[in-house]
Amino acid sequence: MLYASTRNSGLKVSSAEAIVKGIADDGGLFVPTEIPKVSLEKISNLANKTYTQRAKEIMSLFLTDFSAEEIENCVLSAYNSNNFGSDEIAPLHTLGDAEILELWHGPTCAFKDMALQILPHLMTCSIKKCNIKKEIVILVATSGDTGKAALEGFADVEGTRILVFFPENGVSKIQKLQMLTQSGKNVGVASVYGNFDDAQTGVKRIFGDEEYNKKLDSEGFRLSSANSINWGRLLPQIYYFSAYCDMVKKGRIKVGDKINICVPTGNFGNILASWYAGKMGLPVNKFICASNANNVLTDFINTGIYDKNRSFHTTSSPSMDILISSNLERLLSDITGDEKGVSGWMQELGKNGKYEISPETKKVVSERFFGGFCDDEATKASICKVWNEHKYLMDTHTAVAYNVYEQYVAETGDKTPTVIASTANPYKFNSAVYSSISPQAKIENMDEFDILDALNRKTGLEIPKSLSELKTKAVRFDTKCAKEDMINVVSGMLGIK
Ligand SMILES: *Cc1c(COP(=O)(O)O)cnc(C)c1O
Repeated sequence: MLYASTRNSGLKVSSAEAIVKGIADDGGLFVPTEIPKVSLEKISNLANKTYTQRAKEIMSLFLTDFSAEEIENCVLSAYNSNNFGSDEIAPLHTLGDAEILELWHGPTCAFKDMALQILPHLMTCSIKKCNIKKEIVILVATSGDTGKAALEGFADVEGTRILVFFPENGVSKIQKLQMLTQSGKNVGVASVYGNFDDAQTGVKRIFGDEEYNKKLDSEGFRLSSANSINWGRLLPQIYYFSAYCDMVKKGRIKVGDKINICVPTGNFGNILASWYAGKMGLPVNKFICASNANNVLTDFINTGIYDKNRSFHTTSSPSMDILISSNLERLLSDITGDEKGVSGWMQELGKNGKYEISPETKKVVSERFFGGFCDDEATKASICKVWNEHKYLMDTHTAVAYNVYEQYVAETGDKTPTVIASTANPYKFNSAVYSSISPQAKIENMDEFDILDALNRKTGLEIPKSLSELKTKAVRFDTKCAKEDMINVVSGMLGIK
């Protein structure tokens, strides 16, 4: 199977090349040139298998240039009870009529681990296959969770360096501490004055700077990406097959029944993975795209106009504080198959911050997707309600999805069983979660670790060790920079002039 750029179908590469490069030379994103099909019979079959077996079978369909042994090694090194607490990897939790798909049992407590525990293994395999002798420099812009998950995944991985930029005032305190205390010889972390889009744009600019890339080449380095613009990030996110299989096993559905999938969305990576699962044959009725106050996607789904010219909100669900959802480009490419159209829209987005899709494309988008959003108050109310009614604690991102799921049901009356992607452990966003269920608490007077303890006393849920031990870990990084200076920070971290 080959992969082509969304902006030029003539630019074709193998999956190993797509993973090593991260982004196509023309600025487009790599997409599979065909979508493999998974029959209902095959799904029945997968239902009786473990998570690792399911992952192996689904990923093999896309990684046709990898041997079965290589895929097996990658999958087993990533998805084990050591990294994910149990062999379930991504368990389902029934909540009334919905099924919560818990994607946060990995080492950094967010769903990014699902992909970033395996990506370094896919990457080292790919580097060998492509016979690359340079050191691969993974350059990441993060709204909080990708950065830590990528640092954790790539720390001390031979042949790689990992450099992470996060917005100085755009991540939670826990997220910041997680990154600044990262161990490993090959890691670097800096914050950017600005928001996530500034950091992301800065990173994209470095990727696109030909002269700088030549210089890196002469110094023995080559850039790659661990953001969800990298195909290797999306592929492991096709865990919706596993969720479906578990629903079959539980007797919630029969093979062939449709489900809805509701995803708290930022860069459109996680929900796009569910879209591809649907294209492969997973029976999906609606894709429910949940946003926070940065509701650019809600408007897009409802109007066909993507317009990032609006104020940016810093919310209690910071991993979704994004106005440029990069992976939408892949969806539009898949729906239209029109590389000229897609390039044009992306050019308009770059120039005017805005584009409008054709009426036919808009029709497909609004038939298949439901877009909704909620603000911080409503997010808190959802956390509190679900805690009071079910004694189930959601993080802020999951709560946005839950809120929008309820809006969808109220609006449509649709009773289709729904999988809600739960993307973070509630302890990771402790202040917002604790104040949601303890409105009287004076959290201004508490530090991060007091809040972890208070949340533990209130709920009885175990504090993840990786978070409680942050208290005693030394901070290793203190670089802060303007977005224009990111390139110099990269040079500094690599030790080049
Ligand atoms: C990254 C992230 C999201 C958004 O996922 P996208 O793939 O960027 O849409 C939602 N919730 C959490 C906790 C995240 O870390």
